Amino acid sequence: MPRVYNFSAGPAVLPEEVLREAAEEMLDYRGCGMSVMEISHRSSVFDEIIGEAEKDLRELLGVPSNYKVLFLQGGAYTQFAAVPMNLMKNRVADYIVTGQWAKKAWKEAARYGKANCIASSEDKTFSYIPDCSDLPVSPDADYVYICENNTIYGTKFKTLPNTKGKDLVADVSSCFLSEPADVSRYGIMFGGAQKNIGPAGVVIVIIREDLVREDVLPGTPTMLTYKTQADAGSLFNTPPVYGIYICGKVFKWLKAQGGLAAMKTRNEEKAALLYGFLDQSRLFKGTVEKKDRSLMNVPFVTGDKELDALFVREAEASGLVNLKGHRTVGGMRASIYNAMPRAGVEALVDFMTEFESRHPAG
Ligand SMILES: *Cc1c(COP(=O)(O)O)cnc(C)c1O
Repeated sequence: MPRVYNFSAGPAVLPEEVLREAAEEMLDYRGCGMSVMEISHRSSVFDEIIGEAEKDLRELLGVPSNYKVLFLQGGAYTQFAAVPMNLMKNRVADYIVTGQWAKKAWKEAARYGKANCIASSEDKTFSYIPDCSDLPVSPDADYVYICENNTIYGTKFKTLPNTKGKDLVADVSSCFLSEPADVSRYGIMFGGAQKNIGPAGVVIVIIREDLVREDVLPGTPTMLTYKTQADAGSLFNTPPVYGIYICGKVFKWLKAQGGLAAMKTRNEEKAALLYGFLDQSRLFKGTVEKKDRSLMNVPFVTGDKELDALFVREAEASGLVNLKGHRTVGGMRASIYNAMPRAGVEALVDFMTEFESRHPAG
């Protein structure tokens, strides 16, 4: 079976070069006679793996020296609780609700304090990003929260909200390392690795040092206290060793591709191919406002549920897999993360063109 083009939103496609390298090192990692899955997280071999991963990530994103980089577990979802537990000094936080992940984070925060929804795009099924230039930010808010790229709906913040001096916390799960970012504008950015970076099981938290505090909410578990993790260099307990190793390889791959500026250009080109096709198609339509379109997740529909299902089935038979939209929205969604080659997007557009010629009326 040849490799397919995998358009899954996550766990998602990984660079083939990375998988081949990992396969070569599977039984004997660089002469240590074991696989990385079998080594101690306290060994010098792993010290080097996690050290290099952090160094490469810092270099790629230009992480300032007053930020900590943490490799944790529990997925992005656990951060929905960790963020308020660590940051809600005043027990007040403002949430911008642009999709289901932001909404889940907002609901989770409401368990720990007053979580205000200060803007939402739910009125139009999250198909746009609200104007965030002058929101009613609470004077005593401990932070303002966004989900920067909405994986399910396919929208992205093209400019960060005006937080009126409050710290910005961003879930960047599905746009992590897809383009350069100015880390200094965030208090915390975090993301699950399984979208645009590596395998499931790792969540990366980049946090400004002054937010790594002792005065967390009472009852905050040791494991969810950023200070525990920062003081221990992400080695407080056993970290997701193999996942971190693969993330490290992806960071090296990104550097070899030319870094994040080069990835941005490639991602824009790939997205332009697909959106360009959608904009002229008589059968397929994009579902979100053009100005807010994500470069990573591209939802589209034919307007006919049965035709959508037929499209997904036939695409799968042609080696274009996981194009079914999220169960809550239907239609199709193509996730075209960093590791999706341009040839994959071209193959998708070719297939859509051919499908349209067979179903001209829609
Ligand atoms: C997938 C996703 C999550 C949930 O991630 P888990 O690692 O499964 O907890 C959260 N936020 C965004 C934006 C996502 O895409």
